[in-house]
Amino acid sequence: MKPSLYIHIPFCLAKCNYCSFNSYAGLEGLQERYVECMCVECRNVAAKGQPAPLQSVFFGGGTPTLLSNDQLQRLLATIVSCFDIEEGAEISIEANPGTVNLEKFQLLRASGINRLSIGVQSFNDAELRAIARVHSAEEAKQALELARVAGFSNLSIDLMYGLPQQTAKSWRESLGTALSMGIQHLSLYQLTVEEKTPLEKMLACGSLQLPDEDVIAEMDEITASLMESNGLYQYEISNYAREGYQCSHNINYWQNGEYYAMGAGAVAYLEGTRIKNIAGPEHYCSLVESGQSVEAERERLDKEASFRESVIMGLRLNCGVSCKRLERRYAITLDQVYGTTIESLRARDLLEYEGEYLRLTGQGRVFANLVMAELV
Ligand code: SF4
Repeated sequence: MKPSLYIHIPFCLAKCNYCSFNSYAGLEGLQERYVECMCVECRNVAAKGQPAPLQSVFFGGGTPTLLSNDQLQRLLATIVSCFDIEEGAEISIEANPGTVNLEKFQLLRASGINRLSIGVQSFNDAELRAIARVHSAEEAKQALELARVAGFSNLSIDLMYGLPQQTAKSWRESLGTALSMGIQHLSLYQLTVEEKTPLEKMLACGSLQLPDEDVIAEMDEITASLMESNGLYQYEISNYAREGYQCSHNINYWQNGEYYAMGAGAVAYLEGTRIKNIAGPEHYCSLVESGQSVEAERERLDKEASFRESVIMGLRLNCGVSCKRLERRYAITLDQVYGTTIESLRARDLLEYEGEYLRLTGQGRVFANLVMAELV
């Protein structure tokens, strides 16, 4: 499998109250240094050699579109000059409403970015305020329209359900608005309350409430029905796409493929080894500037651990995990690693075989966490 490249841009306009990602508000002054350091890291990584061309590049964050046009252009030019990128490779960038305009979208498109992933989260202003997003629903719609005007034909939206103040009706409306905007891909995530976030405190003191389980179940039903009637099919637990628009970058993660990763806190997976960069952007810059390694952690996975990971990640995909590919890659079988566990999960109608693929059943998707816990 060909590798991917992930580029982490850790800057945000403000911190959303549910966010535990490696992202920071108020570091605008560091952006220029950070971009220069990323260009240096790029050259350092590429100098070690690249066995195969990149099949995808993904700019994530944070908010990559907070970088200036000049900074984005410089970073893209450095990546293109350092790495061999496959013809037609998917090159995505995450964009947040409130940080984009037509000129920025046109520059991104002209620089070779061919896929946009826009962090909308909701088309309801009260819900956006409850999670402290910096943009309005109207700004999100405008961002989508501008992206199309700039020539993007592969557009993805992130939406969240289970938000404070959200009802089944408002979820249906947000999904309906997204679908009416002619997008090709939707990532739909249920809100998770992360430790030590402002959201956790607000829920604990009762200033916000989350929808209950019955409402979440109703939202799931609405999602399934609207996706089916609008021609987007589920290809992963949280992801839906029109035919031909699945995200290849993320599919490479779920197939446990190799990926380079650069920037503060970025995690690469190469030759069976996971390498994590130092998380703080300022610390990252100081290390690069003084010619030191930015590596914070390195973990070599043994064959069985990597096999188990491939199974667990692969089961997130609706097509499941290819048993033939597993055997070719690891020279061991599911039975050798799991004994009778797979048969037991099949007997409980949680897993099934479809040709050479092992996959979650409909019931298995509902209880995916339980299944994964038995296979980890
Ligand atoms: S925009 Fe994204 S990365 Fe930034 S704070 Fe909000 S959720 Fe986190």
